Amino acid sequence: MKRRGFLKLAAAGVLGVCASVPAWAAAQAVSADVVVVGGGGSGLAAAVRAAELGAKVVLLEKNGVVGGGAAFAEGLFGIESRWQRAKNYGLSIPHAAEYLQRFDHFKSDAKFRRLYLEQSAPTLDWVAQHGVKFEAIQVSPSETLTWHVIGQYKGDQHGAAYVHALADSAAKLGVKTLLSTPAKSLIMKNGRVAGVKAEGAAGELDISASSVILATGGFGDNPELVRSLLGYDPARVKSSVPLHKTGDGFLMAKAAGGAQTAATAVMHPGTEGRGIKFLSNLYVMSWQPANLWVNDHGERFAPETLSFEFALAGNAIASQLHSEGWVIFDDAAIDYMKTQGADVGVGVIIPTMTKLPNIRSEINAAIAQGSDAVKSGATAEELARAIGVPPSALKKTLETYNRATEEKYDGEFFKLTQWLRPIGKGRLYALRLRPYWFCTLGGTRTDRSLRVVDGDDRPIPGLYAVGAETGRMYGDTYTTWTSGHLFGFAAWSGKAAAETALKDMGK
Ligand SMILES: Cc1cc2nc3c(=O)[nH]c(=O)nc-3n(C[C@H](O)[C@H](O)[C@H](O)COP(=O)(O)OP(=O)(O)OC[C@H]3O[C@@H](n4cnc5c(N)ncnc54)[C@H](O)[C@@H]3O)c2cc1C
Repeated sequence: MKRRGFLKLAAAGVLGVCASVPAWAAAQAVSADVVVVGGGGSGLAAAVRAAELGAKVVLLEKNGVVGGGAAFAEGLFGIESRWQRAKNYGLSIPHAAEYLQRFDHFKSDAKFRRLYLEQSAPTLDWVAQHGVKFEAIQVSPSETLTWHVIGQYKGDQHGAAYVHALADSAAKLGVKTLLSTPAKSLIMKNGRVAGVKAEGAAGELDISASSVILATGGFGDNPELVRSLLGYDPARVKSSVPLHKTGDGFLMAKAAGGAQTAATAVMHPGTEGRGIKFLSNLYVMSWQPANLWVNDHGERFAPETLSFEFALAGNAIASQLHSEGWVIFDDAAIDYMKTQGADVGVGVIIPTMTKLPNIRSEINAAIAQGSDAVKSGATAEELARAIGVPPSALKKTLETYNRATEEKYDGEFFKLTQWLRPIGKGRLYALRLRPYWFCTLGGTRTDRSLRVVDGDDRPIPGLYAVGAETGRMYGDTYTTWTSGHLFGFAAWSGKAAAETALKDMGK
């Protein structure tokens, strides 16, 4: 559904802004007040806000369509918003601030976060002024009601609707959007940013500008940065939707003298392999809390209910040998999914309780193809041999787990009793479990007004960074407790950086 929306953007309204491409691409040198690098969740907000405030704006987008990860997202964080008020929901800013600073182990900047929390509801109001509709929704027991899921806009919904609406506003406000035109480097003059060098279809383009806002969405598709900044093997821990986000903003900021922060990633569980399609019934099976997860030693490593807190589930899987595991289930679980539906959905795209009518046929088809990621066995030992884990270990793990289901007490990981179901009815199945990330977070250090700073926290004049590439908003991982935090931060930081840039320019 998300992908459909994204493709529709390419085919319809958003490409309207593409009309300006040939004229701009033909010129070798152009000028603007503000260049925004990256047309995703944060970059669109920055471009629209800067144009609203009267700036001449050029928006550079590396891909052939705007949207980035935001086109696939579903909702934005907000607190003390009018959509929460409509549901009589009472979580307060101080309560969330207190929870989050402890969750972050004070590795984030608590004052920066507080600013975002305070501005999250006004940011939603501002986004709504551009035609975006919201509803506050809670989709898992580990969340609060902070996720403002996006409704329809001109036939698109969720993130694609946000992208479509803001791209329309950008076009109306005169923003020049150049698609398939990645920024390559910053133009520096006397220690301040003076523009951007980009490369479009017609060759190199120099855009002079007083302010450059880096909104390139992180580095999840850059194997070297994944290894050096996150410490993961990039062949085993990857983007859920690869979008050419190769840390360009981070590298440009660094080359300009920008300081580096710690980085992390927003992970989630998932699966891939022969016979498995993204968001298929088999894919949804990899998120189910009543299954059993084992690592390559044949041992459990986490309560499977962690899929409700997808970021923590991804962390746990990534930390196992080979950064992988196996989801173990039986014929009874297949029947349950067909008749009762999923116990946890995948966002609002595949809602909880969605029935999985194709689960058995997908399993059979994958096994018939000799899938590397879907296996079956009549006994624990047979299944263990098929997936290459020690047979005695898997047998013991299943026995221990089944005893816990009888006793209604999981002494190993304290999984809640309603998700403790015996496994062993009929045949046994295994589905490969892998970690992915929705996006990486951090790398570029800014001040609280989104100015990129050097190693002494002095702003580099004219340079700003927003969204996923900005450091100091997150600690060592992400919590789903405040669902939508990422997308909300992208919108707020984009808007706030535009306001800072215009103020710094004296406008
Ligand atoms: C499947 C999926 C679901 C998600 N759901 C949610 C959700 O519901 N709630 C939530 O909070 N978050 C969600 N996220 C995360 C959310 O998408 C991001 O937090 C948000 O998009 C970050 O905004 P951004 O502007 O930093 O990056 P993006 O939106 O990814 O935009 C970055 C843009 O920069 C462009 N770019 C990169 N390099 C260059 C360059 N050199 N020159 C020009 N352009 C460049 C990219 O092509 C891209 O368009 C989801 C992500 C995915 C993948």
